[in-house]
Amino acid sequence: MSSGRAQLSKIRQVLVERAEARLSDAALRLLIEQTGEALLLMDAAGHVLAFNAEAGHQFRIPVPERLEHGCLPGCDWVRPENASVPLEVSPLTRALAGEGVREERWGLRRPDGTVVVLRGSVFPISPAGSAEEAPSGVLLRAREELLPRLDATRAARLLAEAGALLGAELETEAQMEPLLRLLVPSLADAGVLFLGSSGESVRAVAAVHAEPERHVLLVEMLCRYPPDTLDPRGLPSLFLTGRTERTAELTEEQQVALTRDAEHARLLLSLGLSSYLGVPLVARGRIIGALALFRTDGAPAFGDEDERLAEELSRRTALSLDNARLLREAREAVRLRDEFLGIASHELKTPLTPLHLKVQLLQKQVDLLAANGKPVSAERVSETLDVVQRQVRKLTSLVDNLLDVSRITAGRLKLELEEMDLASVAAEILYRFAPSAAQLHCSLEMHAPVPVLGRWDRLRLEQVVTNLLSNALKYGAGQPVRLLVEADGRTARLIVEDGGIGISARDLPRIFERFERAVSDRHYGGLGLGLYITRQIVEAFGGTVKATSELGRGSTFVLELPRGDIPEEWLSVPGAPEPKP
Ligand code: ADP
Repeated sequence: MSSGRAQLSKIRQVLVERAEARLSDAALRLLIEQTGEALLLMDAAGHVLAFNAEAGHQFRIPVPERLEHGCLPGCDWVRPENASVPLEVSPLTRALAGEGVREERWGLRRPDGTVVVLRGSVFPISPAGSAEEAPSGVLLRAREELLPRLDATRAARLLAEAGALLGAELETEAQMEPLLRLLVPSLADAGVLFLGSSGESVRAVAAVHAEPERHVLLVEMLCRYPPDTLDPRGLPSLFLTGRTERTAELTEEQQVALTRDAEHARLLLSLGLSSYLGVPLVARGRIIGALALFRTDGAPAFGDEDERLAEELSRRTALSLDNARLLREAREAVRLRDEFLGIASHELKTPLTPLHLKVQLLQKQVDLLAANGKPVSAERVSETLDVVQRQVRKLTSLVDNLLDVSRITAGRLKLELEEMDLASVAAEILYRFAPSAAQLHCSLEMHAPVPVLGRWDRLRLEQVVTNLLSNALKYGAGQPVRLLVEADGRTARLIVEDGGIGISARDLPRIFERFERAVSDRHYGGLGLGLYITRQIVEAFGGTVKATSELGRGSTFVLELPRGDIPEEWLSVPGAPEPKP
Protein backbone atom coordinates (compact mmCIF):
# COMPACT_ATOMS: atom_id res chain seq x y z
CA MET A 1 0.00 0.00 0.00
CA SER A 2 2.74 2.30 1.03
CA SER A 3 4.61 1.39 -2.14
CA GLY A 4 1.40 2.13 -4.08
CA ARG A 5 1.15 5.55 -2.45
CA ALA A 6 4.75 6.21 -3.14
CA GLN A 7 4.18 5.30 -6.79
CA LEU A 8 1.15 7.58 -6.93
CA SER A 9 3.12 10.41 -5.45
CA LYS A 10 5.87 9.78 -8.02
CA ILE A 11 3.34 9.85 -10.86
CA ARG A 12 1.86 13.08 -9.51
CA GLN A 13 5.32 14.62 -9.34
CA VAL A 14 6.04 13.60 -12.94
CA LEU A 15 2.70 15.05 -14.03
CA VAL A 16 3.43 18.30 -12.20
CA GLU A 17 6.88 18.47 -13.72
CA ARG A 18 5.45 17.83 -17.19
CA ALA A 19 2.78 20.47 -16.63
CA GLU A 20 5.45 22.89 -15.46
CA ALA A 21 7.60 22.04 -18.47
CA ARG A 22 4.63 22.56 -20.83
CA LEU A 23 3.86 25.81 -19.09
CA SER A 24 7.39 27.09 -19.43
CA ASP A 25 7.42 25.88 -23.06
CA ALA A 26 4.23 27.85 -23.67
CA ALA A 27 5.63 30.86 -21.84
CA LEU A 28 8.79 30.67 -23.91
CA ARG A 29 6.79 30.42 -27.14
CA LEU A 30 4.67 33.39 -26.05
CA LEU A 31 7.81 35.37 -25.29
CA ILE A 32 9.31 34.49 -28.65
CA GLU A 33 6.17 35.56 -30.51
CA GLN A 34 5.46 38.69 -28.53
CA THR A 35 8.88 40.38 -28.57
CA GLY A 36 7.97 42.48 -31.59
CA GLU A 37 11.35 41.62 -33.14
CA ALA A 38 12.33 38.94 -35.59
CA LEU A 39 13.81 36.05 -33.57
CA LEU A 40 15.66 33.10 -35.04
CA LEU A 41 17.33 30.35 -33.02
CA MET A 42 19.36 27.71 -34.79
CA ASP A 43 21.88 25.10 -33.81
CA ALA A 44 25.35 24.78 -35.24
CA ALA A 45 24.15 22.09 -37.66
CA GLY A 46 21.67 24.54 -39.19
CA HIS A 47 18.46 23.17 -37.61
CA VAL A 48 16.01 25.95 -36.95
CA LEU A 49 14.81 25.68 -33.34
CA ALA A 50 12.76 28.87 -33.21
CA PHE A 51 11.51 31.25 -35.92
CA ASN A 52 8.80 33.68 -34.90
CA ALA A 53 6.05 35.20 -37.04
CA GLU A 54 7.82 38.57 -37.10
CA ALA A 55 10.87 36.83 -38.64
CA GLY A 56 8.55 35.37 -41.31
CA HIS A 57 7.17 38.87 -41.91
CA GLN A 58 10.57 40.61 -42.09
CA PHE A 59 12.34 37.94 -44.18
CA ARG A 60 9.19 37.14 -46.23
CA ILE A 61 9.87 33.38 -46.06
CA PRO A 62 7.99 30.48 -44.46
CA VAL A 63 9.50 28.84 -41.37
CA PRO A 64 12.62 27.06 -42.67
CA GLU A 65 13.67 23.69 -41.30
CA ARG A 66 17.37 24.14 -41.84
CA LEU A 67 19.61 27.01 -42.81
CA GLU A 68 22.54 25.92 -44.91
CA HIS A 69 25.67 27.87 -43.95
CA GLY A 70 23.61 30.51 -42.20
CA CYS A 71 21.86 31.42 -45.42
CA LEU A 72 18.17 32.45 -45.26
CA PRO A 73 16.46 30.65 -48.20
CA GLY A 74 15.83 32.98 -51.15
CA CYS A 75 17.36 35.98 -49.32
CA ASP A 76 20.64 37.83 -49.84
CA TRP A 77 22.46 39.88 -47.29
CA VAL A 78 23.30 43.13 -49.04
CA ARG A 79 25.63 45.94 -48.20
CA PRO A 80 24.13 49.35 -47.68
CA GLU A 81 25.16 50.15 -51.25
CA ASN A 82 23.01 47.23 -52.38
CA ALA A 83 25.93 45.02 -53.42
CA SER A 84 25.70 41.46 -52.17
CA VAL A 85 27.66 40.59 -49.06
CA PRO A 86 29.84 37.49 -49.32
CA LEU A 87 28.23 34.79 -47.17
CA GLU A 88 31.27 34.41 -44.92
CA VAL A 89 30.85 37.96 -43.60
CA SER A 90 27.07 37.82 -43.25
CA PRO A 91 25.87 38.24 -39.63
CA LEU A 92 24.63 34.64 -39.13
CA THR A 93 27.83 33.09 -40.46
CA ARG A 94 30.00 35.37 -38.34
CA ALA A 95 28.02 34.44 -35.20
CA LEU A 96 28.24 30.73 -36.09
CA ALA A 97 32.01 31.20 -36.16
CA GLY A 98 31.79 32.52 -32.60
CA GLU A 99 31.74 36.29 -33.22
CA GLY A 100 29.17 38.32 -31.32
CA VAL A 101 27.42 40.68 -33.72
CA ARG A 102 25.94 43.62 -31.83
CA GLU A 103 23.49 46.27 -33.00
CA GLU A 104 24.56 46.34 -36.62
CA ARG A 105 22.65 47.63 -39.63
CA TRP A 106 22.15 45.15 -42.48
CA GLY A 107 20.32 45.17 -45.74
CA LEU A 108 18.45 42.01 -46.70
CA ARG A 109 17.16 41.43 -50.23
CA ARG A 110 14.11 39.23 -49.81
CA PRO A 111 12.76 36.62 -52.23
CA ASP A 112 10.26 39.15 -53.63
CA GLY A 113 13.20 41.43 -54.56
CA THR A 114 12.50 44.14 -52.00
CA VAL A 115 15.28 45.21 -49.67
CA VAL A 116 14.67 45.75 -45.98
CA VAL A 117 17.09 47.49 -43.65
CA LEU A 118 17.41 45.63 -40.37
CA ARG A 119 19.13 46.59 -37.18
CA GLY A 120 19.95 43.80 -34.74
CA SER A 121 22.37 41.41 -33.06
CA VAL A 122 23.33 37.76 -33.39
CA PHE A 123 24.55 35.96 -30.26
CA PRO A 124 26.62 32.80 -30.42
CA ILE A 125 25.33 30.30 -27.80
CA SER A 126 28.12 28.30 -26.22
CA PRO A 127 27.71 25.24 -23.94
CA ALA A 128 27.93 26.34 -20.29
CA GLY A 129 31.47 27.14 -19.26
CA SER A 130 32.95 26.51 -22.71
CA ALA A 131 33.25 30.01 -24.16
CA GLU A 132 36.37 28.97 -26.03
CA GLU A 133 34.65 26.25 -28.04
CA ALA A 134 32.67 26.76 -31.26
CA PRO A 135 29.10 27.80 -30.40
CA SER A 136 26.45 25.13 -30.42
CA GLY A 137 23.93 27.54 -31.90
CA VAL A 138 23.09 31.21 -32.54
CA LEU A 139 20.22 33.51 -31.66
CA LEU A 140 19.40 36.33 -34.05
CA ARG A 141 17.15 39.19 -33.10
CA ALA A 142 16.43 42.05 -35.52
CA ARG A 143 13.92 44.77 -36.25
CA GLU A 144 13.25 46.85 -39.31
CA GLU A 145 14.99 50.20 -39.17
CA LEU A 146 12.53 52.91 -40.02
CA LEU A 147 13.63 56.43 -40.77
CA PRO A 148 11.88 58.79 -38.43
CA ARG A 149 9.05 60.01 -40.67
CA LEU A 150 8.21 63.65 -40.90
CA ASP A 151 4.88 64.26 -39.26
CA ALA A 152 2.78 67.32 -40.13
CA THR A 153 4.25 69.41 -37.32
CA ARG A 154 7.84 68.67 -38.29
CA ALA A 155 7.06 69.25 -41.96
CA ALA A 156 5.57 72.65 -41.12
CA ARG A 157 8.63 73.48 -39.01
CA LEU A 158 10.92 72.43 -41.87
CA LEU A 159 9.06 74.72 -44.29
CA ALA A 160 9.27 77.58 -41.79
CA GLU A 161 13.04 77.08 -41.39
CA ALA A 162 13.41 76.91 -45.18
CA GLY A 163 11.38 80.13 -45.42
CA ALA A 164 13.80 81.85 -43.06
CA LEU A 165 16.77 80.67 -45.14
CA LEU A 166 15.16 81.70 -48.41
CA GLY A 167 13.92 85.00 -46.99
CA ALA A 168 17.48 86.11 -46.39
CA GLU A 169 18.72 87.71 -49.60
CA LEU A 170 20.05 84.94 -51.82
CA GLU A 171 23.37 86.37 -52.93
CA THR A 172 25.28 83.23 -53.72
CA GLU A 173 24.56 79.65 -54.58
CA ALA A 174 26.56 78.64 -51.48
CA GLN A 175 23.41 79.46 -49.53
CA MET A 176 21.73 76.44 -51.09
CA GLU A 177 23.63 73.93 -48.97
CA PRO A 178 22.03 74.90 -45.63
CA LEU A 179 18.69 74.48 -47.36
CA LEU A 180 19.59 70.97 -48.44
CA ARG A 181 20.82 70.21 -44.94
CA LEU A 182 17.29 70.86 -43.69
CA LEU A 183 16.10 67.93 -45.77
CA VAL A 184 18.97 65.57 -44.99
CA PRO A 185 18.46 63.43 -42.97
CA SER A 186 14.91 64.41 -41.92
CA LEU A 187 13.38 63.74 -45.33
CA ALA A 188 16.15 62.04 -47.29
CA ASP A 189 19.54 60.45 -46.72
CA ALA A 190 21.17 62.37 -49.55
CA GLY A 191 20.28 65.25 -51.83
CA VAL A 192 21.66 67.26 -54.74
CA LEU A 193 20.40 70.64 -55.92
CA PHE A 194 20.94 71.38 -59.59
CA LEU A 195 20.56 74.82 -61.14
CA GLY A 196 20.26 75.63 -64.84
CA SER A 197 18.18 74.27 -67.66
CA SER A 198 18.76 71.44 -70.07
CA GLY A 199 19.18 73.72 -73.10
CA GLU A 200 21.90 75.69 -71.35
CA SER A 201 24.24 74.53 -68.65
CA VAL A 202 23.33 72.66 -65.48
CA ARG A 203 25.44 72.84 -62.31
CA ALA A 204 25.18 70.91 -59.07
CA VAL A 205 25.25 73.82 -56.62
CA ALA A 206 24.83 71.85 -53.39
CA ALA A 207 25.15 68.22 -52.38
CA VAL A 208 24.72 66.58 -49.00
CA HIS A 209 24.92 62.97 -47.80
CA ALA A 210 23.91 62.14 -44.25
CA GLU A 211 26.97 59.93 -43.74
CA PRO A 212 30.21 61.94 -43.65
CA GLU A 213 32.31 59.40 -45.59
CA ARG A 214 29.71 59.07 -48.30
CA HIS A 215 29.28 62.85 -48.36
CA VAL A 216 32.94 63.13 -49.40
CA LEU A 217 32.36 60.52 -52.13
CA LEU A 218 29.23 62.32 -53.37
CA VAL A 219 31.07 65.64 -53.63
CA GLU A 220 34.01 63.93 -55.32
CA MET A 221 31.68 62.28 -57.83
CA LEU A 222 29.97 65.56 -58.72
CA CYS A 223 33.35 67.31 -59.11
CA ARG A 224 34.82 64.61 -61.31
CA TYR A 225 31.64 63.91 -63.25
CA PRO A 226 29.72 67.20 -63.33
CA PRO A 227 26.32 67.15 -65.00
CA ASP A 228 26.65 67.46 -68.74
CA THR A 229 23.68 68.83 -70.65
CA LEU A 230 24.90 67.10 -73.78
CA ASP A 231 24.92 63.76 -71.99
CA PRO A 232 21.46 63.37 -70.48
CA ARG A 233 22.54 60.19 -68.64
CA GLY A 234 23.84 62.18 -65.71
CA LEU A 235 20.93 64.55 -65.59
CA PRO A 236 17.55 63.90 -64.01
CA SER A 237 15.15 63.48 -66.93
CA LEU A 238 12.73 65.84 -65.17
CA PHE A 239 14.85 68.61 -66.72
CA LEU A 240 13.12 67.67 -69.95
CA THR A 241 9.70 66.65 -68.65
CA GLY A 242 9.37 69.25 -65.89
CA ARG A 243 7.51 66.68 -63.80
CA THR A 244 8.21 65.15 -60.40
CA GLU A 245 9.80 61.68 -60.58
CA ARG A 246 9.76 58.94 -58.00
CA THR A 247 11.60 55.62 -58.09
CA ALA A 248 10.81 53.29 -55.19
CA GLU A 249 13.76 51.03 -55.86
CA LEU A 250 16.90 52.18 -57.62
CA THR A 251 18.56 49.04 -58.89
CA GLU A 252 22.29 48.67 -59.38
CA GLU A 253 21.74 48.36 -63.14
CA GLN A 254 19.70 51.57 -63.26
CA GLN A 255 22.44 53.41 -61.42
CA VAL A 256 25.28 52.01 -63.53
CA ALA A 257 23.36 53.04 -66.67
CA LEU A 258 23.63 56.66 -65.50
CA THR A 259 27.41 56.59 -65.21
CA ARG A 260 30.12 57.42 -67.73
CA ASP A 261 32.83 54.92 -66.76
CA ALA A 262 33.76 52.30 -64.18
CA GLU A 263 35.09 54.86 -61.68
CA HIS A 264 31.90 56.88 -61.97
CA ALA A 265 29.90 53.70 -61.33
CA ARG A 266 32.06 52.83 -58.31
CA LEU A 267 31.52 56.26 -56.79
CA LEU A 268 27.77 56.24 -57.45
CA LEU A 269 27.24 52.74 -56.06
CA SER A 270 29.26 53.54 -52.94
CA LEU A 271 26.59 56.12 -52.01
CA GLY A 272 24.11 53.36 -51.23
CA LEU A 273 21.22 55.09 -53.01
CA SER A 274 18.13 52.91 -52.98
CA SER A 275 15.19 55.18 -53.79
CA TYR A 276 14.79 58.53 -55.53
CA LEU A 277 12.53 61.56 -55.56
CA GLY A 278 13.24 64.29 -58.13
CA VAL A 279 11.36 67.58 -58.17
CA PRO A 280 11.83 70.34 -60.78
CA LEU A 281 12.39 73.95 -59.75
CA VAL A 282 10.04 75.95 -61.93
CA ALA A 283 9.90 79.74 -62.02
CA ARG A 284 7.41 81.54 -64.26
CA GLY A 285 6.89 78.44 -66.36
CA ARG A 286 10.61 77.83 -66.92
CA ILE A 287 12.63 74.97 -65.43
CA ILE A 288 15.49 76.62 -63.57
CA GLY A 289 16.80 73.61 -61.69
CA ALA A 290 15.97 70.41 -59.87
CA LEU A 291 16.06 68.92 -56.42
CA ALA A 292 17.13 65.27 -56.36
CA LEU A 293 16.56 63.43 -53.08
CA PHE A 294 17.63 59.91 -52.23
CA ARG A 295 17.12 57.38 -49.49
CA THR A 296 19.80 54.82 -48.91
CA ASP A 297 20.37 51.22 -47.92
CA GLY A 298 16.87 50.07 -48.68
CA ALA A 299 15.21 52.52 -46.30
CA PRO A 300 11.47 52.85 -47.05
CA ALA A 301 10.90 54.68 -50.33
CA PHE A 302 9.46 58.21 -50.55
CA GLY A 303 5.71 58.47 -50.11
CA ASP A 304 3.03 60.93 -51.25
CA GLU A 305 3.52 63.17 -48.22
CA ASP A 306 7.27 63.34 -48.86
CA GLU A 307 6.58 64.25 -52.47
CA ARG A 308 4.19 67.04 -51.51
CA LEU A 309 6.68 68.48 -49.03
CA ALA A 310 9.56 68.35 -51.54
CA GLU A 311 7.37 70.01 -54.19
CA GLU A 312 6.32 72.80 -51.84
CA LEU A 313 9.91 73.41 -50.85
CA SER A 314 11.04 73.42 -54.49
CA ARG A 315 8.30 75.88 -55.38
CA ARG A 316 9.44 78.27 -52.66
CA THR A 317 13.10 77.80 -53.56
CA ALA A 318 12.45 78.47 -57.25
CA LEU A 319 10.47 81.61 -56.39
CA SER A 320 13.25 82.93 -54.14
CA LEU A 321 15.94 82.15 -56.70
CA ASP A 322 13.95 83.85 -59.42
CA ASN A 323 13.34 86.91 -57.25
CA ALA A 324 17.03 87.05 -56.37
CA ARG A 325 17.89 86.89 -60.07
CA LEU A 326 15.42 89.66 -60.94
CA LEU A 327 16.82 91.80 -58.14
CA ARG A 328 20.38 91.21 -59.36
CA GLU A 329 19.38 92.07 -62.92
CA ALA A 330 17.52 95.18 -61.83
CA ARG A 331 20.54 96.34 -59.80
CA GLU A 332 22.85 95.61 -62.72
CA ALA A 333 20.56 97.53 -65.08
CA VAL A 334 20.54 100.53 -62.72
CA ARG A 335 24.34 100.32 -62.39
CA LEU A 336 24.72 100.19 -66.18
CA ARG A 337 22.30 103.08 -66.60
CA ASP A 338 24.18 105.23 -64.09
CA GLU A 339 27.47 104.38 -65.73
CA PHE A 340 25.94 105.15 -69.10
CA LEU A 341 24.61 108.51 -67.91
CA GLY A 342 28.14 109.39 -66.78
CA ILE A 343 29.61 108.41 -70.16
CA ALA A 344 26.78 110.02 -72.11
CA SER A 345 27.16 113.37 -70.33
CA HIS A 346 30.88 113.22 -70.95
CA GLU A 347 30.43 112.33 -74.62
CA LEU A 348 27.81 115.03 -75.16
CA LYS A 349 30.00 117.61 -73.50
CA THR A 350 33.13 116.73 -75.52
CA PRO A 351 32.01 118.39 -78.81
CA LEU A 352 30.49 121.31 -76.88
CA THR A 353 33.83 122.49 -75.50
CA PRO A 354 35.62 123.21 -78.85
CA LEU A 355 32.34 124.54 -80.21
CA HIS A 356 32.02 126.96 -77.33
CA LEU A 357 35.70 128.02 -77.53
CA LYS A 358 35.60 128.61 -81.27
CA VAL A 359 32.40 130.64 -81.13
CA GLN A 360 33.75 132.67 -78.19
CA LEU A 361 37.01 133.36 -80.04
CA LEU A 362 35.18 134.41 -83.19
CA GLN A 363 32.91 136.66 -81.14
CA LYS A 364 35.95 138.38 -79.57
CA GLN A 365 37.61 138.86 -82.95
CA VAL A 366 34.41 140.24 -84.49
CA ASP A 367 34.01 142.66 -81.54
CA LEU A 368 37.63 143.73 -81.82
CA LEU A 369 37.48 144.25 -85.57
CA ALA A 370 34.16 146.08 -85.27
CA ALA A 371 35.63 148.35 -82.60
CA ASN A 372 38.45 149.18 -85.01
CA GLY A 373 36.02 149.59 -87.85
CA LYS A 374 37.58 146.72 -89.81
CA PRO A 375 35.71 144.04 -91.78
CA VAL A 376 35.67 140.43 -90.55
CA SER A 377 37.69 138.03 -92.67
CA ALA A 378 35.48 135.54 -94.53
CA GLU A 379 38.25 132.92 -94.26
CA ARG A 380 38.30 133.10 -90.46
CA VAL A 381 34.51 132.87 -90.24
CA SER A 382 34.47 129.92 -92.59
CA GLU A 383 37.19 128.11 -90.58
CA THR A 384 35.21 128.56 -87.37
CA LEU A 385 32.02 127.43 -89.03
CA ASP A 386 33.81 124.27 -90.18
CA VAL A 387 34.63 123.42 -86.58
CA VAL A 388 31.12 124.32 -85.48
CA GLN A 389 29.62 122.11 -88.16
CA ARG A 390 31.88 119.15 -87.31
CA GLN A 391 31.02 119.34 -83.62
CA VAL A 392 27.32 119.83 -84.32
CA ARG A 393 27.42 116.71 -86.55
CA LYS A 394 29.00 114.75 -83.68
CA LEU A 395 26.36 115.99 -81.26
CA THR A 396 23.59 115.16 -83.71
CA SER A 397 24.89 111.67 -84.19
CA LEU A 398 25.12 111.10 -80.41
CA VAL A 399 21.59 112.38 -79.90
CA ASP A 400 20.37 110.30 -82.88
CA ASN A 401 21.85 107.20 -81.30
CA LEU A 402 20.07 107.95 -78.04
CA LEU A 403 16.80 108.50 -79.89
CA ASP A 404 17.30 105.24 -81.80
CA VAL A 405 17.75 103.32 -78.58
CA SER A 406 14.55 104.71 -77.13
CA ARG A 407 12.76 103.95 -80.44
CA ILE A 408 14.06 100.37 -80.40
CA THR A 409 13.12 99.91 -76.73
CA ALA A 410 9.62 101.16 -77.48
CA GLY A 411 9.43 98.89 -80.56
CA ARG A 412 9.10 101.89 -82.87
CA LEU A 413 11.87 101.09 -85.33
CA LYS A 414 10.17 101.62 -88.69
CA LEU A 415 11.68 100.43 -91.97
CA GLU A 416 10.91 101.89 -95.37
CA LEU A 417 11.96 99.25 -97.83
CA GLU A 418 13.06 100.08 -101.36
CA GLU A 419 15.23 98.43 -103.98
CA MET A 420 18.94 99.22 -103.84
CA ASP A 421 22.43 97.89 -104.43
CA LEU A 422 24.34 97.06 -101.24
CA ALA A 423 27.67 97.37 -103.06
CA SER A 424 26.90 101.00 -104.10
CA VAL A 425 25.66 101.91 -100.60
CA ALA A 426 28.88 100.48 -99.11
CA ALA A 427 31.06 102.27 -101.71
CA GLU A 428 29.38 105.60 -100.96
CA ILE A 429 29.93 105.25 -97.19
CA LEU A 430 33.52 104.20 -97.79
CA TYR A 431 34.01 107.33 -99.87
CA ARG A 432 32.62 109.46 -97.01
CA PHE A 433 35.16 107.90 -94.65
CA ALA A 434 38.15 108.58 -96.90
CA PRO A 435 39.22 111.85 -95.16
CA SER A 436 39.08 110.41 -91.60
CA ALA A 437 40.83 107.21 -92.79
CA ALA A 438 43.64 109.36 -94.19
CA GLN A 439 43.87 111.24 -90.90
CA LEU A 440 44.13 107.97 -88.98
CA HIS A 441 46.64 106.54 -91.50
CA CYS A 442 44.35 103.64 -92.35
CA SER A 443 44.14 102.49 -95.95
CA LEU A 444 40.65 101.56 -97.14
CA GLU A 445 40.09 98.65 -99.51
CA MET A 446 36.87 97.48 -101.06
CA HIS A 447 36.05 94.28 -102.89
CA ALA A 448 32.60 94.24 -104.42
CA PRO A 449 32.83 92.57 -107.83
CA VAL A 450 29.11 92.69 -108.66
CA PRO A 451 26.05 94.68 -107.64
CA VAL A 452 24.13 93.01 -104.83
CA LEU A 453 20.54 94.03 -105.22
CA GLY A 454 17.94 93.75 -102.52
CA ARG A 455 15.10 95.51 -100.70
CA TRP A 456 16.20 97.41 -97.61
CA ASP A 457 15.71 100.72 -95.76
CA ARG A 458 18.40 103.01 -97.21
CA LEU A 459 19.04 105.21 -94.17
CA ARG A 460 19.15 102.25 -91.78
CA LEU A 461 21.44 100.28 -94.09
CA GLU A 462 23.76 103.30 -94.32
CA GLN A 463 23.70 103.55 -90.54
CA VAL A 464 24.76 99.90 -90.15
CA VAL A 465 27.65 100.19 -92.64
CA THR A 466 28.68 103.49 -91.04
CA ASN A 467 28.76 101.96 -87.56
CA LEU A 468 30.89 99.01 -88.67
CA LEU A 469 33.28 101.15 -90.70
CA SER A 470 33.68 103.83 -88.05
CA ASN A 471 34.48 101.15 -85.44
CA ALA A 472 37.00 99.55 -87.81
CA LEU A 473 38.77 102.89 -88.16
CA LYS A 474 38.42 103.83 -84.50
CA TYR A 475 39.77 100.53 -83.15
CA GLY A 476 41.83 99.75 -86.27
CA ALA A 477 45.12 101.09 -84.88
CA GLY A 478 46.21 102.52 -88.24
CA GLN A 479 46.02 99.15 -90.02
CA PRO A 480 44.25 98.61 -93.38
CA VAL A 481 40.48 98.20 -93.32
CA ARG A 482 38.85 95.90 -95.88
CA LEU A 483 35.23 95.91 -96.96
CA LEU A 484 33.73 93.03 -98.91
CA VAL A 485 30.28 92.77 -100.49
CA GLU A 486 28.96 89.58 -102.06
CA ALA A 487 25.76 87.66 -102.67
CA ASP A 488 24.94 84.08 -101.93
CA GLY A 489 21.58 83.28 -103.51
CA ARG A 490 18.94 85.14 -101.55
CA THR A 491 21.45 86.32 -98.93
CA ALA A 492 23.58 89.45 -99.21
CA ARG A 493 26.82 89.52 -97.25
CA LEU A 494 28.94 92.46 -96.11
CA ILE A 495 32.22 91.88 -94.31
CA VAL A 496 34.29 94.54 -92.54
CA GLU A 497 37.79 93.47 -91.54
CA ASP A 498 40.38 95.40 -89.61
CA GLY A 499 43.81 94.59 -88.22
CA GLY A 500 43.40 96.61 -85.03
CA ILE A 501 43.26 96.05 -81.27
CA GLY A 502 40.78 93.15 -81.47
CA ILE A 503 38.32 91.96 -78.83
CA SER A 504 38.93 89.29 -76.21
CA ALA A 505 36.88 86.07 -76.32
CA ARG A 506 35.42 87.04 -72.93
CA ASP A 507 34.12 90.39 -74.24
CA LEU A 508 32.93 89.20 -77.67
CA PRO A 509 29.52 87.87 -76.55
CA ARG A 510 28.48 91.16 -74.92
CA ILE A 511 29.59 93.86 -77.35
CA PHE A 512 26.24 93.78 -79.17
CA GLU A 513 24.40 94.48 -75.92
CA ARG A 514 23.14 97.91 -74.91
CA PHE A 515 25.80 100.21 -73.31
CA GLU A 516 28.39 97.40 -73.45
CA ARG A 517 31.95 98.42 -74.23
CA ALA A 518 35.15 96.41 -74.17
CA VAL A 519 37.56 99.33 -74.00
CA SER A 520 38.32 101.87 -71.33
CA ASP A 521 36.57 105.24 -71.77
CA ARG A 522 39.90 106.91 -70.98
CA HIS A 523 41.33 105.66 -74.28
CA TYR A 524 38.32 105.57 -76.56
CA GLY A 525 35.17 107.68 -76.53
CA GLY A 526 31.80 106.12 -77.31
CA LEU A 527 28.47 105.23 -75.78
CA GLY A 528 28.51 101.48 -76.37
CA LEU A 529 25.39 101.84 -78.52
CA GLY A 530 26.63 101.51 -82.11
CA LEU A 531 26.75 97.72 -82.27
CA TYR A 532 23.54 97.39 -80.26
CA ILE A 533 21.70 99.58 -82.75
CA THR A 534 23.41 97.75 -85.63
CA ARG A 535 22.20 94.38 -84.40
CA GLN A 536 18.66 95.66 -83.82
CA ILE A 537 18.47 97.07 -87.36
CA VAL A 538 19.98 93.94 -88.91
CA GLU A 539 17.54 91.73 -87.01
CA ALA A 540 14.66 93.96 -88.12
CA PHE A 541 15.81 93.21 -91.71
CA GLY A 542 15.68 89.50 -90.76
CA GLY A 543 19.47 89.17 -90.90
CA THR A 544 22.39 88.51 -88.56
CA VAL A 545 25.60 90.25 -87.58
CA LYS A 546 28.47 88.32 -86.04
CA ALA A 547 31.97 89.17 -84.93
CA THR A 548 35.13 87.11 -84.78
CA SER A 549 38.23 88.54 -83.27
CA GLU A 550 41.47 87.97 -81.43
CA LEU A 551 43.10 90.46 -79.10
CA GLY A 552 45.79 92.44 -80.93
CA ARG A 553 45.00 90.76 -84.25
CA GLY A 554 42.00 92.68 -85.53
CA SER A 555 38.32 91.93 -85.90
CA THR A 556 35.95 90.76 -88.60
CA PHE A 557 32.28 91.69 -88.61
CA VAL A 558 30.05 89.67 -90.92
CA LEU A 559 26.64 90.96 -91.82
CA GLU A 560 24.15 88.66 -93.57
CA LEU A 561 20.92 90.12 -94.89
CA PRO A 562 18.06 88.44 -96.72
CA ARG A 563 17.65 90.23 -100.02
CA GLY A 564 13.90 90.51 -99.49
CA ASP A 565 11.12 90.08 -101.96
CA ILE A 566 13.05 90.72 -105.19
CA PRO A 567 12.48 89.51 -108.76
CA GLU A 568 14.13 86.20 -109.62
CA GLU A 569 16.33 87.78 -112.33
CA TRP A 570 18.03 90.03 -109.73
CA LEU A 571 19.53 86.94 -108.20
CA SER A 572 21.61 86.31 -111.30
CA VAL A 573 23.12 89.71 -112.03
CA PRO A 574 25.78 89.32 -114.75
CA GLY A 575 29.09 88.42 -113.16
CA ALA A 576 27.43 87.39 -109.91
CA PRO A 577 28.69 84.11 -108.49
CA GLU A 578 26.49 81.13 -109.29
CA PRO A 579 24.18 80.28 -106.39
CA LYS A 580 25.59 77.29 -104.52
CA PRO A 581 23.80 73.99 -105.36
P1 ADP B 1 31.37 102.25 -78.90
O1 ADP B 1 30.64 103.53 -78.94
O2 ADP B 1 31.99 101.98 -77.57
O3 ADP B 1 32.34 102.04 -80.01
P2 ADP B 1 29.92 100.02 -80.06
O4 ADP B 1 28.59 99.47 -79.69
O5 ADP B 1 30.08 100.49 -81.46
O6 ADP B 1 30.22 101.16 -79.01
O7 ADP B 1 31.00 98.94 -79.75
C1 ADP B 1 30.96 98.26 -78.53
C2 ADP B 1 32.37 97.85 -78.13
O8 ADP B 1 32.82 96.84 -79.03
C3 ADP B 1 33.39 98.94 -78.22
O9 ADP B 1 33.41 99.70 -77.01
C4 ADP B 1 34.66 98.18 -78.45
O10 ADP B 1 35.18 97.73 -77.22
C5 ADP B 1 34.21 96.96 -79.23
N1 ADP B 1 34.44 97.06 -80.69
C6 ADP B 1 33.54 97.33 -81.63
N2 ADP B 1 34.09 97.29 -82.89
C7 ADP B 1 35.38 96.93 -82.69
C8 ADP B 1 36.50 96.70 -83.58
N3 ADP B 1 36.38 96.82 -84.93
N4 ADP B 1 37.69 96.35 -83.02
C9 ADP B 1 37.81 96.22 -81.68
N5 ADP B 1 36.80 96.44 -80.81
C10 ADP B 1 35.61 96.79 -81.31
